[in-house]
Amino acid sequence: MGKDIVHFKCHHCNHCCTDVICLPTPWDVKRIAKMTGNNPKDFLEFLTAEDIDGADEDDPTWLEVGDQRYLMALKRDAKTGCYFLNQKTRYCSIYEARPLLCRLYPFKVVESRSGEYKGFVLHDDVGCPRHRDGAVTTKPLYDLYIQDEVNQDDYRELVEVFNAREYPRKKPGDFIKMFMNGFQSFLQKAE
Ligand code: SF4
Ligand code: SF4
Repeated sequence: MGKDIVHFKCHHCNHCCTDVICLPTPWDVKRIAKMTGNNPKDFLEFLTAEDIDGADEDDPTWLEVGDQRYLMALKRDAKTGCYFLNQKTRYCSIYEARPLLCRLYPFKVVESRSGEYKGFVLHDDVGCPRHRDGAVTTKPLYDLYIQDEVNQDDYRELVEVFNAREYPRKKPGDFIKMFMNGFQSFLQKAE
């Protein structure tokens, strides 16, 4: 196992909740909807490559609808930030339910060439000022990382099913129905 701690303390500059596009997994969306009562249609949007600076063309979660591709994201306003950012306190209003990506930011896992886990460092390309006046225990981060890996694998499978289906008036928002209502209703709708 790697080091037990990584030196970091969040100074709540709000960069990550204002300037960064958050791409939740379906499991994040389900958790947020369940814990907060928010309707996914209200807090999600579907972005094209033109909407995202430096979009990863090879991201396996691009949703295909006709000739267009979309990534599922938390709604964000260029000035006020994430849909869930409390505009008065400037803190996350769904902290206990927030996506795993938000919990892992700005930490990055380090692996050996053979894929063996070595520890966590701070991303140096995501805009966080990386204050090092704190100590964060890595075990909970590792558990989150593993959970996120599992969720991402499942996400890829869901997207493959969605992309394989062609039917009249297909919309990116149908993907929400697919994972919120269960596979079966989506497959029947798509017949
Ligand atoms: S869900 Fe919360 S932590 Fe994540 S970007 Fe939005 S406000 Fe920030
Ligand atoms: S960018 Fe870094 S310091 Fe700023 S709020 Fe996010 S985690 Fe905290």
